[in-house]
Amino acid sequence: MEDKKEKKLTTLAGRPIADNQNSLTAGERGPLLAEDFQLFEKLAHFNRERIPERIVHAKGAGAYGTFTIKRDITQYTKAKVFSEIGKKTDVFLRFSTVAGEKGSADTVRDVRGFALKFYTEEGNWDLVGNNTPVFFLRDPYKFMDFIHSQKRVPQTNLRSDIMQWDFWSLSPETLHQVTILFSDRGIPHGFTHMNGYGSHTYSFINAKDERFWVKFHFKTQQGIKNFTQEEANEIAGSNPDWGTQDLFERIERKEFPKWTVYVQIMPEKEAETYKWNPFDLTKVWPHADYPLIEVGELELNRNPENYYAEVEQAAFAPANIVPGIGFSPDKMLQGRIFAYTDAHRYRLGANYETLPVNKPKVEVQSYHRDGFMRHDGNFGKQVNYEPNTMGGPKENPQYKEPPLKISGDADRFGQPIVDADFIQPGNLYRIMPADEQERLITNIVGSLKKVPIEIQKRQLEHFLKADQSYGERVAKGLGIEL
Ligand code: NDP
Repeated sequence: MEDKKEKKLTTLAGRPIADNQNSLTAGERGPLLAEDFQLFEKLAHFNRERIPERIVHAKGAGAYGTFTIKRDITQYTKAKVFSEIGKKTDVFLRFSTVAGEKGSADTVRDVRGFALKFYTEEGNWDLVGNNTPVFFLRDPYKFMDFIHSQKRVPQTNLRSDIMQWDFWSLSPETLHQVTILFSDRGIPHGFTHMNGYGSHTYSFINAKDERFWVKFHFKTQQGIKNFTQEEANEIAGSNPDWGTQDLFERIERKEFPKWTVYVQIMPEKEAETYKWNPFDLTKVWPHADYPLIEVGELELNRNPENYYAEVEQAAFAPANIVPGIGFSPDKMLQGRIFAYTDAHRYRLGANYETLPVNKPKVEVQSYHRDGFMRHDGNFGKQVNYEPNTMGGPKENPQYKEPPLKISGDADRFGQPIVDADFIQPGNLYRIMPADEQERLITNIVGSLKKVPIEIQKRQLEHFLKADQSYGERVAKGLGIEL
């Protein structure tokens, strides 16, 4: 923190300040004088230091790093970031918890955000994922209700196991993510001992304009390590910022955390016949069907200089794709394409992409103008409408994506829960070693025992469908006769 170079203290307008310790008063014991604009600048600016915290993922930590390509996958994508072996791209990665507020503990049982910004030569590519390959929901229409159930009770302002299990038991598509949440991986050992996942299905488009569906995986090279519930509770009391501190100090010690980056690839046509809906965010693509292809390495190697400027103001958006990488029909992804940019316009203002941490490393040319905090040149005297004959920036059809065939009736298609929905949560339960299964059951029972019996029974049906023994063991823990 210490900087040896002597700096002159000034007002925000640049006037040197003679005294920063004593207010201007009428007499030694007298009241303040209204002309003490330096005092009022301090008081007023301080009042405005906080911007709205993120409604989800409020508590986080971030660092800069490098993404290095280790394998040629240009047969799948023309994205410049993947263009050649050895290619390096600068990144910024923000980790977070989801439900807690900005000051909440890093060691709570929760999903962790894994939000990456790649500063590529064709604009910023944001992969805004989690430490889990799936999510609770597959329709963004339910997202706000889901988050309310994870937040605070309107009357008491307390968090509530009842609200959570009420929602989960009425939304069985959540079971896969609920099983991960209550497994050992529900409380990672800081941010570096966990995997990251793009979670959604995205698309790759190659130079021949062929489309492939793709999922992204970041496997920790530090090894998976988790806190037990007891350890996490203890740390939440003694050092709620444990994960933030661990990340910062590792990087300061030059123990740079690394992840091996993989993709799963599905040819475009196969999506129509594959046994799972590949655009359903509550499902993974089993590795046996779509093996992990190692493509590169992600390393974090530089801490931010200023938390507020670089981490609090970092704005990630799944809308930020680059040529060669596209969206998919995943409904949750489609919802997030709007919601994230909208959140940033609200929190940071319409010009948030011009903030240093968000600013692309390539030249930006557009017809957007003005708005709060337009602190750059606002495109100077350049023409601000299109079409024009004034030499303004031009679209380039070379970047057009191949058309995507879509068919069917416009409707609200409901979400019938079918038996197949319980297979993957059951698979996860079945691959867990016996001791992890034991802790999963203990963790679930610890929370579910706090809720009314009707909710317990409704939820038990889901566990039983996933795996008979999964349900029986939770029932036993709750003291319910099946
Ligand atoms: P595999 O045996 O090929 O893969 C199992 C995966 O499960 C591994 O990636 C492993 O991650 C991960 N895993 C192990 N324990 C946990 C846990 N407690 N929470 C979350 N993930 C865990 O099997 P399948 O591909 O057929 O998948 C079986 C189940 O594994 C799925 O239903 C899903 O729940 C889970 N899974 C699958 C993933 C996928 O993309 N296919 C990704 C992650 C989980 P690691 O190698 O890091 O130990």
